[in-house]
Amino acid sequence: MRIKDITAALEAWAPRSLQEDYDNSGLQVGDPESEVDSALVCLDCTEAVVEEAARLGCGLIISHHPVIFRGLKSLSGKGYVERTILAAIKHGIALYAIHTNLDNVISGVNGEIAARLGLKNLRVLDPKHGQLRKLFVFVPKDQAEAVRTAMFQAGAGHIGNYDECSFNGEGHGTFRAGENTDPHLGQKGRRHTEPEMRVEVVVPLTAEGAVVSALITAHPYEEVAYDLVPLANAHPGIGSGMLGELDEPLEESEFLAQVKKTFGLKVIRHTRLLGRSVRKVALCGGSGAFLINKAKAAGADVYLTGDIKYHEFFDADSKLLLADIGHFGSEQFTMDLIQRRLGELFPTFAVRLTENVTDPIYHF
Ligand SMILES: [Zn+2]
Repeated sequence: MRIKDITAALEAWAPRSLQEDYDNSGLQVGDPESEVDSALVCLDCTEAVVEEAARLGCGLIISHHPVIFRGLKSLSGKGYVERTILAAIKHGIALYAIHTNLDNVISGVNGEIAARLGLKNLRVLDPKHGQLRKLFVFVPKDQAEAVRTAMFQAGAGHIGNYDECSFNGEGHGTFRAGENTDPHLGQKGRRHTEPEMRVEVVVPLTAEGAVVSALITAHPYEEVAYDLVPLANAHPGIGSGMLGELDEPLEESEFLAQVKKTFGLKVIRHTRLLGRSVRKVALCGGSGAFLINKAKAAGADVYLTGDIKYHEFFDADSKLLLADIGHFGSEQFTMDLIQRRLGELFPTFAVRLTENVTDPIYHF
């Protein structure tokens, strides 16, 4: 398969435009046109992972964390990043990262953690703003259904767990066709009045181009009248962290024991047990201390994440149980998630998981 077909499929799921400003997701090493027989998936791309890919004949490594995160000024093998890149180039292996864009989609890193914990009623803990548009289009009544359907198929009209959402109002449109026109209705130089529908749909920014193009293709008019307006609403399916509920409440210690088992952890660092039961669970894979206040505001009984610093533990303020399950620990299932997704998309393309445990932290 061509590398660009694989990365395009991954980015249709987790568009690169959803990555955070500081991030560097995407193809970092290699030619997008080149063909590969198999891919190796890892959380961190290290020299050992590159050697493993070379041994297995995998032409592409897909990592969660980008190996090139900050700018590089040389490639002389000074540190592990440069050595990893040099090894990949030497073996002709492409390196691709799918990082905060996969954190920010509801079916991504955090959706996988929530599924492993058996959480229900999932929603994004800190939904992103600036990701939605409202599209208004004016269309002759007889063609309204075709236009509506075309927009839905291109990704418009999703609100929460509902799709094909639209609002439709009847009215009359007027227009006068000028010189050099070929009007679908009416005559040149004369004002025409047409019974029309005003169809309104919500459009995610990531599907804006596809929806507008589908609309224009399906619409009968030579000049399509439509308005695309930015919305102040947050996108409920895009953003940081996740909130969900357990089927049955658990005692705090029972819950922590379950988390320890599910994630195969040696240790969980946590704040004082509060003597309450746990039902509402907030979580964020990786370094999620920035969401402690959001988890409290959402009324979570517990917040699970990694990389919590000493002073950040105080921020729990007896409002919830704050538990650090480690950066690697919290994100380890991301590898299975990517493998599973690629398996569904390309059943005959081999996707392997690294056997290297890249967690750099050991416990004595
Ligand atoms: Zn991470």
